[in-house]
Amino acid sequence: MNYIDGTFVHANDGQTLENYNPATGKVVASIPRSQSADVAQAAAAAKKAQPAWNALSLKERAAWLDKIADALQEKHEAIAQAETMDTGKPISLSRRVDASRSVDNFRFFAEFGRLQKPMMFEMDDAVNHVHRNGLGVVGLITPWNLPLYLLSWKVAPALLMGNAIVAKPSELTPLTANILAETLDELQVPKGVFNLVHGLGPEVGQAILEDQRITGISFTGGTATGRIVAATAAPLFKKLSLELGGKNATIVLEDADMDQAVNGAVRAAFTNSGQVCLCGSRILVHASIASTFLAAFVAEVKSMTIGNPVESSSQIGTLISMDHLEKVESYIDLAVEEGGTILTGGTRAMTGAIGPNPDGAYLSPTVISGLSHLSRCATEEIFGPVVTVHTFETLEQATVMANATEYGLAGSIWTADLEKGQALATTIETGIVWINTWLHRDLRTPFGGVKNSGVGREGGQWSLEFFSETTNVCVMNPK
Ligand code: NAD
Repeated sequence: MNYIDGTFVHANDGQTLENYNPATGKVVASIPRSQSADVAQAAAAAKKAQPAWNALSLKERAAWLDKIADALQEKHEAIAQAETMDTGKPISLSRRVDASRSVDNFRFFAEFGRLQKPMMFEMDDAVNHVHRNGLGVVGLITPWNLPLYLLSWKVAPALLMGNAIVAKPSELTPLTANILAETLDELQVPKGVFNLVHGLGPEVGQAILEDQRITGISFTGGTATGRIVAATAAPLFKKLSLELGGKNATIVLEDADMDQAVNGAVRAAFTNSGQVCLCGSRILVHASIASTFLAAFVAEVKSMTIGNPVESSSQIGTLISMDHLEKVESYIDLAVEEGGTILTGGTRAMTGAIGPNPDGAYLSPTVISGLSHLSRCATEEIFGPVVTVHTFETLEQATVMANATEYGLAGSIWTADLEKGQALATTIETGIVWINTWLHRDLRTPFGGVKNSGVGREGGQWSLEFFSETTNVCVMNPK
């Protein structure tokens, strides 16, 4: 159901969409296929509710975030189960990452809000006071790979800064957004402050982009969609945050701790079946250690347990859909055409505790060598369990190879020489670099990409700045 002005409602015209479990191919829910009329109602409700919400103090809004965090914590298992049903990711991952981080996002921004100090700039003869207010109504559009994790990453700072929200989750993964709406409803968050409108991107998403009452858009999704978002929203002078695709390099230097590097590279490549924007889908390894590294890497990949996502033992579940599976497979075919060698994987893995399931979108983790670092498979975002491996001789070559894509989101460097690693990190065109780790997050730090991976940053102060507007009041000292 949609959640508009504090009420759960169907789409105005009654249309629906079916929502599938990618592990079984079965329909698990039906959601509204909303249109611009539904978005208009949500935007009107949000516009009406926003001034009173904005009038609360930062501390009062932070207290609301704490209440939301507590309530979501109680639903931790339900959130994890829903996320696994919707995405096909292993339940252990949904518990450890999705459900936990969704709680943490609210908890973090509550605490971070309380730490904010009034901003003042003194002059010889005057004092400037910087006031921050919410932007107004913000549109939050999110993808399917980390559904509640990414939605809550936007909802928490948006609420904290005094905004009212019109949110649109991916039509492929609507379930946990509903849990969030139910939670806010149970807590009696004022009506209209949070509105949820389900449906398709070109219908609901587009209507959010175009609605004049919505003054800020925070979008996470693919680069091609990001281009449409920017083209629609920029001429309307909406404030825009774009978190887009990635093709991240895992760079293994000759002095790396081999076990640590292999383990990190496997995690970076195959977490959530490679469907994380930060996944290290290209491995650049120093030629002198390439054969040792590759042997250990392939052995570890082969040992991963592919299975029914609801089983705690499964390390690899399914892809998001059969359509996406076919797209990823087309890249594996292309890799072979481009001259690559498949070292492991490349096949549908219809296994699991429930037995073979040809309707499940299972694909075995795939490692490909022998491709040019400029090949399409090594430069385009595949967003699946596919990694290409390339070798380099010098750090300069590693830099050139790492930078040879349109993307610039993240990367990791594995080395025993931290100074060398840090120097190399500064040459990589990307928003985030990890050294001897991957996806190790401090929520205060800037998160986002350069080049075609996005515009702007999220996290800590960056989120608060995005979701607020400042007014500087300059007060002349009395004579
Ligand atoms: P997507 O771009 O297809 O969809 C993202 C959202 O945009 C969905 O809610 C979708 O319905 C909506 N949408 C689609 N067309 C729209 C339109 N015309 N107007 C407005 N909204 C529209 O992305 P996806 O397939 O859901 O997610 C995978 C992509 O997201 C990958 O490229 C991945 O790298 C990226 N991603 C980036 C980050 C990041 O932080 N940079 C995080 C997660 C995922």
